[in-house]
Amino acid sequence: MGSIILEARDIRYRYPRSMEAIRGISFHIQKGEKIALVGPNGAGKSTLLMMFNGMIRPDTGIILFDNQLVRYDTASLRTLRKRVGFVLQNPDRQIIAPTVYQDVAFGPTNLGYPETEVRKAVTLALRHVGLEGFERRPPHQLSGGEKKRVAIAGVLAMDPDVLVFDEPTSGLDPSGSEDIMELLDELNHGGKTVIISTHDVELAYPWADRSILLLEGRILQEDIPEVAFGNPEFVRMAHLSVPLLLELYTELQKRGFSLPDKKPRTVLDIMHLIETLFQNTCCRARPGTITVCNVDLDNEELLLEWISSSTKISVGAMGTRAKQRAENRQIRLDFTYGVIDKCILKALLGEDSLILTTGSMVDRVHTRVEDYGKESGIHITVNPLEPGIVQTNKKSKRQT
Ligand code: ADP
Repeated sequence: MGSIILEARDIRYRYPRSMEAIRGISFHIQKGEKIALVGPNGAGKSTLLMMFNGMIRPDTGIILFDNQLVRYDTASLRTLRKRVGFVLQNPDRQIIAPTVYQDVAFGPTNLGYPETEVRKAVTLALRHVGLEGFERRPPHQLSGGEKKRVAIAGVLAMDPDVLVFDEPTSGLDPSGSEDIMELLDELNHGGKTVIISTHDVELAYPWADRSILLLEGRILQEDIPEVAFGNPEFVRMAHLSVPLLLELYTELQKRGFSLPDKKPRTVLDIMHLIETLFQNTCCRARPGTITVCNVDLDNEELLLEWISSSTKISVGAMGTRAKQRAENRQIRLDFTYGVIDKCILKALLGEDSLILTTGSMVDRVHTRVEDYGKESGIHITVNPLEPGIVQTNKKSKRQT
């Protein structure tokens, strides 16, 4: 994070023969940030998002992308849209070709990539969203979640720096929504700036680095989620609700409990807070161990052997490739979203867990567990999957 990638200066916009939809908005977004635009229907979220890749031009004010003024001639828009990918709310409006391959190839072909490059870009994008092998499928036969992934792959095929998602989980069931949010995290971890719009406070609160609350075309509040959603008056004005964990924190505070300043954003945070409150009255098990398996390495035999001989452990997968590997090998997954925190929670109960993941996400596990250790004073061991690593708890054998 650091440098600014997108900036708006006092922008305004009115649809023809309609009220002003954007009424003087200024903000900046930094490279690598996860931003949630949150507000009720009609607040101006979609309109604002469409300005990020030049689909809508503000009537007044300016937008800067990577410190350059956004221009609206065909060549400039083409360049901008290569760098700012936009995923529409409804994938049926984004998917246009008769097969998945053709649809994902549309962007890079249009950009004039040679055929070999197009093929490479499509393969990589489909791999990223977990749709390898879907190339010949007609998109209309896919599930809502799969269509969403095709739309995302179509955007990823152009390798943009910024990804904009209008209501990314709309129309998806809870598990489909979790998968998409996990994918957004993965893309962000790979260096993309990710901007979403949503009216789902519980979705935005734990996810975003920063939330922008919009109401009637204006910014009501813009801050880290604990602050952005921490003012009940603003939240009410925006027809939203205070996130449950934040409300619980406030209620505990009102009752005179002495709480740490850091407000909880996840179940792990609230558990830590509760354990701190009751630290003298409950006994703690010896923490379990977290084992991390990088499925990109040539370790499948070891993994299968390890799982089948392991004592009772929970298994989580982070990232599409890891989930796919688990599915191909019929490894039952206990966690597919918020995996690191869920494994820390298991460790706090004295139970062991295994995380399947790939590439740089391995470091993320170490960093998150180390950060938790610094905050809580509880050391949890993270081991790579290697021959000879054993569980700390010997219990009943796990079924795969
Ligand atoms: P949100 O995404 O927060 O629901 P929108 O950006 O879709 O909000 O809409 C902002 C305002 O602009 C609303 O008052 C809406 O009625 C109006 N609006 C949106 N699209 C159009 C359009 N194509 N023509 C006229 N008015 C529109």
